[in-house]
Amino acid sequence: MNSNLEILEELGISKEVAEFGNKIILELEERFKAIDETAEYNQLKVIKAMQEAKVSEACLLGTTGYGYNDIGREKLEEVYANIFHTEDALVRPQITCGTHALALALMSNLRPGDELLSPVGKPYDTLEEVIGIRPSKGSLKEYGISYSQVDLLSDGSFDYDNIKKAINEKTKLVTIQRSKGYQTRKTLSVTQIGELISFVKNINPDIICMVDNCYGEFVERIEPTDVGADMVVGSLIKNPGGGLAPIGGYIAGKKECVENAAFRLTSPGLGKEVGASLGILPQFYQGLFLAPTVTASALKGAILAANLYERMGFDVLPNGTESRHDIIQSITFGKPEGVIAFCQGIQAAAPVDSYVTPEPWDMPGYDAKVIMAAGAFVSGSSIELSADGPIKPPYAVFFQGGLTWPHAKFGILKTVQNMVDRGLFDLKSIQ
Ligand SMILES: *Cc1c(COP(=O)(O)O)cnc(C)c1O
Repeated sequence: MNSNLEILEELGISKEVAEFGNKIILELEERFKAIDETAEYNQLKVIKAMQEAKVSEACLLGTTGYGYNDIGREKLEEVYANIFHTEDALVRPQITCGTHALALALMSNLRPGDELLSPVGKPYDTLEEVIGIRPSKGSLKEYGISYSQVDLLSDGSFDYDNIKKAINEKTKLVTIQRSKGYQTRKTLSVTQIGELISFVKNINPDIICMVDNCYGEFVERIEPTDVGADMVVGSLIKNPGGGLAPIGGYIAGKKECVENAAFRLTSPGLGKEVGASLGILPQFYQGLFLAPTVTASALKGAILAANLYERMGFDVLPNGTESRHDIIQSITFGKPEGVIAFCQGIQAAAPVDSYVTPEPWDMPGYDAKVIMAAGAFVSGSSIELSADGPIKPPYAVFFQGGLTWPHAKFGILKTVQNMVDRGLFDLKSIQ
């Protein structure tokens, strides 16, 4: 018989490492079952949305030029609005990435004199230049839009007293980042986000509550727009693109918010009416269709990594048993060799560029060398199995993605094998 252990061995995974992995996976059976059930729910939610919008074969064709009457684009936006239970949505290949989608949502809904508030601490790195925390051309700050921030309390909860103090008559929009991104705080659950939004709306119901939904889509059965968010924003080369979307971003929310964004993306007066979809619609539709199960695979991979590395004695965040609200996993190695062994393992397990060995490198915008592993079909896609880590204390790696569960599992086993082969971990220590 051609056994899985045999082919794993041909791919460089020893029987001992494979068995260690399988033993942990057996213990995770219940959690994986719950993830599959959520994936089933979300899969049906996506199908229902596509059926209700009467998606047809003609929707896959696309347009050129101005892109007037692009039925596929219009239906896709209806499907997104349906999934997020919002009045409208903007889903476009002309939105180049997550940062662009967030910048668009902010810049189109804020006006000179308004204030933006982040009640959940520092936003994602790339937003610092959008807001003007770090000076940049065209930032909100340059347009006279001010920014204030309230950090989370040390236990990760909301600092309601200071949030209340920070809200003033200029406060127009509150931005809430669901995922921890590359910080060490906990990721917010949709329920927590709902509590925060209620608090803000109680003070002033006119404040627009926007959620940076990156890495969070389809992890739970509800989305932030189900608990009061006026807008959710994300990237199509993360969860909702299902690994197939090669570019793009989305904004789903209140009609006025989405209209503002559309007028900014194209032009005042043109809004959503233009923007040819070219040949991209099959990947957008099919990627969205696959997104719930792809997200589930990535989640299982993150949970496996947490449990394996926790058993191996490393600090992991989230820990092995915590509930999950995004697909990011971090592991702290305490020394550079661990970060390097991990990232090189992920790369070596990739379907593309597996023969390339990533090394720590100086990167623009970073104050330390960084090592990155990605053997992706879509360049930079982090719904595909990927990992990166700065070479500086505490020597932590951030790991996410996995289009299929077998690939996520294989990649993680490969990292463990590297740890064993390089003398960074002794399998005997856990027996
Ligand atoms: C990835 C991410 C972004 C930015 O997305 P890009 O596509 O990399 O520009 C913003 N916020 C969070 C929380 C993210 O994870």
